[in-house]
Amino acid sequence: MNGLRIKHKIAGAIGMLAMLVWHPARAAGLAGVEVLDGFRELAGYVGSPFLLGGAWVAVKITLIAMSTGLVLGLGLALMRLSRFKSLNSVAWGYIWFVRGTPQLLQLVFIFDALPLIGLRFDEITTAVIGFALNEAAFSAELFRAGILSVNRSQSTAAAALGMGPLLTLRRIILPQSMRAVIPGLANDTIGMLKLTSIASVIFVNELTFRSQQIVGQNFKFFTVFGAAAVIYLLLTSGISLVQVWLERLFDHEREQKITFSWFGLRASTRDSKPEASVVSPATVKEPPLANDHTWIGTLLPIGSRTPRHSDEPFVACKNVWKSYGKREILRGVDLSIAHGEVVVILGPSGSGKSTLLKLINHLEPLDWGTIKVDSQYVGYREIPGGGGTVRPLHNLARARAEARVGMVFQHFNLFSHLSALDNIVEAQRQVYDVPRAEAQALGRELLKSVGLAAHADFLPHRLSGGQQQRVAIARALAIKPKLMLFDEPTSALDPELVGEVLGVMRGLADAGMTMIVVTHEIRFARDVADRVVFMDEGEVIEQGPPEQVIDNPTHERTRKFLNVVIN
Ligand code: ADP
Ligand code: MG
Repeated sequence: MNGLRIKHKIAGAIGMLAMLVWHPARAAGLAGVEVLDGFRELAGYVGSPFLLGGAWVAVKITLIAMSTGLVLGLGLALMRLSRFKSLNSVAWGYIWFVRGTPQLLQLVFIFDALPLIGLRFDEITTAVIGFALNEAAFSAELFRAGILSVNRSQSTAAAALGMGPLLTLRRIILPQSMRAVIPGLANDTIGMLKLTSIASVIFVNELTFRSQQIVGQNFKFFTVFGAAAVIYLLLTSGISLVQVWLERLFDHEREQKITFSWFGLRASTRDSKPEASVVSPATVKEPPLANDHTWIGTLLPIGSRTPRHSDEPFVACKNVWKSYGKREILRGVDLSIAHGEVVVILGPSGSGKSTLLKLINHLEPLDWGTIKVDSQYVGYREIPGGGGTVRPLHNLARARAEARVGMVFQHFNLFSHLSALDNIVEAQRQVYDVPRAEAQALGRELLKSVGLAAHADFLPHRLSGGQQQRVAIARALAIKPKLMLFDEPTSALDPELVGEVLGVMRGLADAGMTMIVVTHEIRFARDVADRVVFMDEGEVIEQGPPEQVIDNPTHERTRKFLNVVIN
């Protein structure tokens, strides 16, 4: 299919070129034979070693300058996105200067300035340096745009799995941003290839310069420049083809992964699991979701079921304060959770429930107070002799990975470019160095335990919300968590899908997992929770067994909230 369409495009392009030349030539009074002779002569120039040699110079400069420029550009983009103001300013200043001055002047300047500081290069190397430095500035903005186009929730999910910033960038953000970046990069490459002609000012003997030399001798403007144009067009067509190929490669929502079949040449970029790409997830039959999910527990390590110190609370939040700007979000929260306990947090929107969960996993730093999970700080260490004062650790990702706190989000936050199975395998492989076969085996077992064994190869956007959330739970369980945090896991689901997710959570609770669940599902709280905590305006208002807090709340605010939620 693709091959056919590309062939049509090429035929169209050739037809159009012929028309462009043929009609004006005929109108100018040339006989058909003369025009054909002209074409033949032009073709001769296209094949001439002198012009092709010039084209090769242009290609060489473009290839090296483009690859160097892209590496520099990515670095500049990261500096622009850095939270360090000075890095950001330096990158901004560089981009401002390079974008704002003519490239011709930059080349001449580099050509004249480098020897003054003792750096002598031949003209082609000088041109490469000039073009690379220029491309760095332009591609930096393309990369930045691409990175910003990826939803922040993707990095939050990666951080919750213990992935560090560079790993997240490489494995999660860049693959997803490429789709937005590639068209711009192709523009830049084509632009650079054509613009190498200005390097003739520093005596680079490339294609345009060489055609000028020929014309200077034989005055055959149309034929020689026409031949140069054809060579440029052939080269840029190559770039356009690569662009098409790359765009398909990084298009994670394509139903069928790309296969090129072109003049008998076949190349398939993804031949794995062809059935998953053509089959609709709706037609894939799964055995009915079992009511009993307790066997999830058998997939969890024994270690997660024995606390370090059985006499201390498993999760201990003491006098936790957190502000965003001037707004106090958490105001002295005290909360202790025993090992194996299931705690449901209720509370109106904006009361700080999500913030509390993020602090427990150190996805956000706290302002005051302490939080310990299994008797250990997450991302802090106590200063020796400091009377309990703590200091944040540098390697937060490692701290999170070691804490083994699993997190499930309201909007699932599955990695959208990875299949259900790969979502579960990713952190095991990249963070915990689990061998591939082992990671995949656990991934498949977990998918089976949440009733999605046959959906392993589907990308998230092809799954229903309930299925996505079950994959997200499996993904969190794959890091062998000691504690699971659920932040409104069913709030984004259609009512008929809520049950399948709650069922899995029930199974986990029965298996003895320590869980903190923020939810508005009162029935779940009543049936599954050991304790219900009601929060409002950043404080714990009251807590106790479900029948006490839900049926006989002592506080007016709790009563009001329950009235709204239940009715
Ligand atoms: P809940 O989950 O109970 O609805 P949240 O913990 O999400 O509440 O948020 C509590 C308050 O903190 C909200 O008013 C929200 O606007 C604010 N908030 C949350 N995250 C941020 C942030 N990163 N920056 C600024 N304000 C925030
Ligand atoms: Mg919330």
